[in-house]
Amino acid sequence: MAILIECEDCHNFNDMKKSSYIIVVRHAGYVICYNAFTNTLLCVSNNVYQAFEELDAVNFKMKYEKHYSAFLQNGFYIDDERNELDEIRFNYKQEAFGHNRNFRLMVFPTQDCNLKCWYCYENHKPNTKMEHVVMENVIRYASNVIAKVEIESFVLSFFGGEPLLFFDEIAYPLSVRIKKMCDESGIRFTTFFVTNGTFVTKENIKLFQEINSVFQITLDGCREKHNMVRIQKRQNLPTYDKIIESLYLISENVETTVDDQMVTLRINYDNQTLKKIGELVNDIKGLDRRKFLIHFERVWQTQDSSEDENQKLLLLNAVRLFIQNGFIVNIGNFKNRNVSCLAENHNFAIINYDGLVYKCNGRTLSPDYAEGKLLDNGTIEWNRTALARRLGKSTFENPMCLKCKMLPVCMGPCSQKCMELNWQNLHQVCSLKSIGMSLDNYLTQRAEQVFVAKQLKE
Ligand code: SF4
Ligand code: SF4
Repeated sequence: MAILIECEDCHNFNDMKKSSYIIVVRHAGYVICYNAFTNTLLCVSNNVYQAFEELDAVNFKMKYEKHYSAFLQNGFYIDDERNELDEIRFNYKQEAFGHNRNFRLMVFPTQDCNLKCWYCYENHKPNTKMEHVVMENVIRYASNVIAKVEIESFVLSFFGGEPLLFFDEIAYPLSVRIKKMCDESGIRFTTFFVTNGTFVTKENIKLFQEINSVFQITLDGCREKHNMVRIQKRQNLPTYDKIIESLYLISENVETTVDDQMVTLRINYDNQTLKKIGELVNDIKGLDRRKFLIHFERVWQTQDSSEDENQKLLLLNAVRLFIQNGFIVNIGNFKNRNVSCLAENHNFAIINYDGLVYKCNGRTLSPDYAEGKLLDNGTIEWNRTALARRLGKSTFENPMCLKCKMLPVCMGPCSQKCMELNWQNLHQVCSLKSIGMSLDNYLTQRAEQVFVAKQLKE
């Protein structure tokens, strides 16, 4: 029911109501209130929460003025005229099909890799490498975008295979040339490397700074565990010490040019990994915490164990250990977003080493599934049938997601998973499965992070 109150922002009387995306977690002595629409958390006492729940906004404000302001500023109270679901739909359409000022392009310099992690979903193609003619077409494509579309930022991502296999020959020169065009047009330019981290060296570290690099680098737990999984193809050599060295090289030599953390340190874990995770924490204690985000990801072949209570507890304890050591931790994929995945953005392209174009890097790129082709004039010839199959439906327009309070930070299962399930039985790929713990514990550890971060600052 709508309530007549004075809105502090506009100093007018407006009808106000509560957000539809509030989730509450009760603890002894306090209550965590999460608003998924604004992606904000507030912790309040039981008494305050009870009043928030029971009183109308006028009386809540009279009783708890400071708390009322916090609830209002963080979108727990909203203007009655607003329809949050309409806004979600509008933002989705704008980002998926409209003019996007933050342009992103992904390039695969190769589908080859120097490691042989057993769980990798990619079918590596040995000795593949982007040829000069395709590189020039990528430059022409970027040049067309910069000339024709009004953009504020350009993020050039590199994926593979291992994209740093050809850093000197492909990734670096491509980045330098596109950065130059962006600089001349006043566009913020960043590179993003999803890399195994084995090719970051004392010799090339400064070059990453030059092209404003951010990274995702993966470890598989402590030295012993990691070295059983992430091994070199040649001679089965271990990689743990080299990757740790790379993390320190980045930490000490590359200054961040982005608002968020510069390195996502992804920790892939199976049922054993987290038991000895303390050893890894010890090895990375000297890293600059401002630059690193720890992200936990279950090895997808062990996904069935994510419902096991012991596994949930192991993950929660591991997350808490990193938090207590001053790291920012992320699990799952919930964040402020307008689309489920970049793949839903109609102009997002992944250009493979051979010039074929794809939308999804979560599956092996293979010519049968290409969704377009990069032409010599620097344009992409998209396969409209394939695009319609992927983008014709919205990922969240289904009964399960429309009634879900996490919708604004999720936007439904990605288009790839929806297509693979023929847009049916989507509960099988609900994003809540990826957090590896209950939603209550997920929100609690997020609240703990805010609390610890505040304590560390004081
Ligand atoms: S699998 Fe889904 S989330 Fe992953 S890249 Fe593909 S579309 Fe995006
Ligand atoms: S995929 Fe799951 S978490 Fe995401 S909006 Fe749908 S129901 Fe909610």
